[in-house]
Amino acid sequence: MKNQELIDYLESCGVCRVCQLRYLKARGTEYRDMQKTFQRLDVKVPADGIKDEPADEQPTKKPRLDICSTCLGLFSEDFQQQLIDGILHSDFAKYDSAGIVLAFSLPMALQLRQLSMWFALQRKFGAAVDNNFAPDVSIKEAVKLILHPIVCTQLDKEYDANGLMINIELRHSTEEVDVAKLVELNKAAFPAKAAHQKRIEISRGLLEKQYQPARLKAELFEKFLPIPPAPVTDPLELQSIDLLGPLVCVAGRYRKLSRELSHTPWVLDGKRIMEDSIEEIIIRNVGGHFSETPEKITFMSSGREDVDVRCLGKGRPFVLEIQNARCGSLTQAQALAMEQAVDATGTVSIHNLQVVPREELTHIKTGEEQKRKYYRALCVLEQPATLDILQKLQISESFDIQQKTPIRVLHRRPLHTRPRTIFEVKARVQRENPRLLVIDVVSQAGTYIKELVHGEFGRTAPSIASIIGQPIDILALDVVGIDLDWPADVNNAAAVE
Ligand SMILES: [Zn+2]
Repeated sequence: MKNQELIDYLESCGVCRVCQLRYLKARGTEYRDMQKTFQRLDVKVPADGIKDEPADEQPTKKPRLDICSTCLGLFSEDFQQQLIDGILHSDFAKYDSAGIVLAFSLPMALQLRQLSMWFALQRKFGAAVDNNFAPDVSIKEAVKLILHPIVCTQLDKEYDANGLMINIELRHSTEEVDVAKLVELNKAAFPAKAAHQKRIEISRGLLEKQYQPARLKAELFEKFLPIPPAPVTDPLELQSIDLLGPLVCVAGRYRKLSRELSHTPWVLDGKRIMEDSIEEIIIRNVGGHFSETPEKITFMSSGREDVDVRCLGKGRPFVLEIQNARCGSLTQAQALAMEQAVDATGTVSIHNLQVVPREELTHIKTGEEQKRKYYRALCVLEQPATLDILQKLQISESFDIQQKTPIRVLHRRPLHTRPRTIFEVKARVQRENPRLLVIDVVSQAGTYIKELVHGEFGRTAPSIASIIGQPIDILALDVVGIDLDWPADVNNAAAVE
């Protein structure tokens, strides 16, 4: 089979120039300068399909069909223009994303026509056309090679698998008739399978797998659908264009300055217990920039603290996971304005606000148990502190405790006894009141600190109370450090000044 014979035959079947190149197995950039590629492959083509060539130089033998019988016009310039216009008329402008990714949903008619042409080529050229390996570069592949670069150039965007997803659904006027024929064909071709399937679902996957010359006879196919594919009068139509913004992750650290603020919305029996929460404050001040649906933003942090516990020091790392983001970037000036708006609440303060790659979410999602947490507890003794007590509470060697689930959380956590490691304990007396101790504790994440202090009737053992041999209670607790060096330090204020 010579290239020229192949192209002459395809031409007679109403196959467009781009698809002719597909059948010559052209790759990558070979579709850009088509004339050059034809020349290199030693193929003469009538000039009408190629730009900048006089149309009457070499008249075609048969009148050229307007719509390609194999791609249904998918690779025509008309369609490219329609596609670009369609995207520009969608909500495209609302998305501020540097990268895009295209997802085409193609009618099954294209696959049926591909198979029909495969049969036709086998009849024409015999064994030169393989039974198992398709004679063309698939439409799917060609869409990537041809349409993706054109759309990206026209829209001035990078191709990025993590970018704004443009879902393009195409339909063709013959689709319903073709699918009805395919259902009949499927019954005839694969009767055993069809018999115990109540409803025949013919998926694209099935088409790709089963509908090959190696598994289906041309004679049977031809009882339902023509070989070669019939000429068409209608081109493909754009059915819909849907946009899905990328997943954007915004990280930072928060400090919790209030002892009356819950981590997430606290609702009991349908009633709000606390008016606001850390999650809501942060999303309210950060979410709007990225999303039109802030209620769909997910808030995550590296652990959490109780309502009455503050979180000070560098603060606790958090991240917002924003689906279908309208915007993927954040300038330092914008970040600073958000930080200031959160700070103005007086109950939460955030800093280091920044967009992070989604891969970095693992920092927050994994290894939680291995992390160390740093606490400062204000505790009260029944008697003034003694030197003996202070000496017992200078512990620089780690020790293990066994901790039963605290009674106060039993309504939402199962009863277990968990081993936890305490790495360090340091205590000092408050100057104004010798009954008050400030105790710094470094513990494994997940340790219940209140129970570590008073022992909860022996449910936590050993405890600070059992170590000093007398009752001790906790008045206030602060988290002062979290052993997670993420996200990176960024000083938005300094950058803006
Ligand atoms: Zn074509």
